[in-house]
Amino acid sequence: MVESTQKLPEDGFRINQFPMAAHGFFRKQRDLSQWVLISIFIILPWIKINGLPAILINLPDRRFAFFGLNFWSHDAPLLFFVIASFSLGLLFATSVWGRVWCGWACPQTIPIDGIFRKIETLVEGNHIARKKLHEKPFDNEKIVKAAVKWFLFFTVSLILSHTFFAYFTGPGALVSMALSPPSNALTTFLIVNTTTLIILLNFGWFKERLCTVICPYGRLQSVLMDEDSLVVAYDEKRGEPRKGSKTRSKKRGDCIDCLKCVAVCPTGIDIRHGIQMECIACTSCIDACNEIMRITKKPEGLIRYESENGLKGEKTVFWKMKTNIYLGLTILSVIGLFLFVFNRSGLDITVLRAHETPYQVLKTSKERVLIANHFTLSLKNQSAVKMEVDVMRTGKIENTKIEIIASTLPVVIPPGEAKKNHIFIKFPKSILEKKSHHKFRLQITTKSKDITQKYIKEISLVGPI
Ligand code: SF4
Ligand code: SF4
Repeated sequence: MVESTQKLPEDGFRINQFPMAAHGFFRKQRDLSQWVLISIFIILPWIKINGLPAILINLPDRRFAFFGLNFWSHDAPLLFFVIASFSLGLLFATSVWGRVWCGWACPQTIPIDGIFRKIETLVEGNHIARKKLHEKPFDNEKIVKAAVKWFLFFTVSLILSHTFFAYFTGPGALVSMALSPPSNALTTFLIVNTTTLIILLNFGWFKERLCTVICPYGRLQSVLMDEDSLVVAYDEKRGEPRKGSKTRSKKRGDCIDCLKCVAVCPTGIDIRHGIQMECIACTSCIDACNEIMRITKKPEGLIRYESENGLKGEKTVFWKMKTNIYLGLTILSVIGLFLFVFNRSGLDITVLRAHETPYQVLKTSKERVLIANHFTLSLKNQSAVKMEVDVMRTGKIENTKIEIIASTLPVVIPPGEAKKNHIFIKFPKSILEKKSHHKFRLQITTKSKDITQKYIKEISLVGPI
């Protein structure tokens, strides 16, 4: 269904596009959504929740923060749910709305369209002026405009690369690194500057070529979409025969062959040739054509969001087996993600019996024999704040008082750190008379920021029969 039109010349060298600016309903919506998404990207690392950035991917410490929730390396299974939710959600969105991701949310198209092309237009002028400037030999005007444009591109690239790294280091650490000499953090300096260069060349020079030549998602379209998926499409039935076409029929379609839809296309394709792999669903051609339809007093929507079946005049069926399966699997992955996140405890507790002796017999008198069991209690603070951990010192089994000795407790554990403690549990042998073990519920309490929580760990007390 999705055709490919070869857009690279034989020598593979990049063709420059100078898309005309489109104006209209979709342009306004895209401007709004682009600024919201760019602002979120820039602001997020600066928002602190529980003392940590809203999103932090601290790889050296294997610590991750997500809106106040803290994750550690052992939470890696969570990644499965994150990747599954995103991928399945994207499959679902693509099967229903086509390349909506490319046009409205892709981190490649948003900076190009929302920032870099705007700078280019500001410095070099509209599409005609830009093309003329590109084609003319270097003179003072061309050199000055190129210098200003690439300086602004470089400044934006620096902001974007530093913001990107703030997600990995936190903004505080990044600012102090940026203000100190490069030799203090040479590796980070090289990584950030290489990223700046990649961003600069990608968004400033390579642009939508990445979508048409490299991006694997574009190539998956034919598999993911079908004749019921919404795409940006030209209504051939209504538009043809276009003005100027050589046909015997006197009847003319609504297309006046003004080529405005081609002029605004950032990938340089003609949507009238049908659905093409290079179309990134940016909607510019919809706005451009609607403008022409208003001038020619024809109904808008010669180019519109439509399914292939819709173009044929048939009913578009969005909810069918394939989309229902994608949606069902997406919902299941999201539920799995929520269950995983909200069933995580702030304190990871492991109680293991000490290796050397399973028990010790402590005789206090002929009638009263006490048994002691030795355990190691491993505690890991998985929360974002330090916590004080203790165990309840006495307990009861079958109305018999038992004593818990934990000389290293209470213990204060900083966020993300683990501490190992030894505990001895003394209990009368009488409780083991009929069996050599007894279940006991060890109560562990945590205190952090005046919030007290209780955890119960069931352990088995053993002794001689
Ligand atoms: S903008 Fe509309 S009228 Fe003009 S060429 Fe494209 S489809 Fe035809
Ligand atoms: S064909 Fe239209 S929607 Fe597709 S990339 Fe070109 S201008 Fe954007």
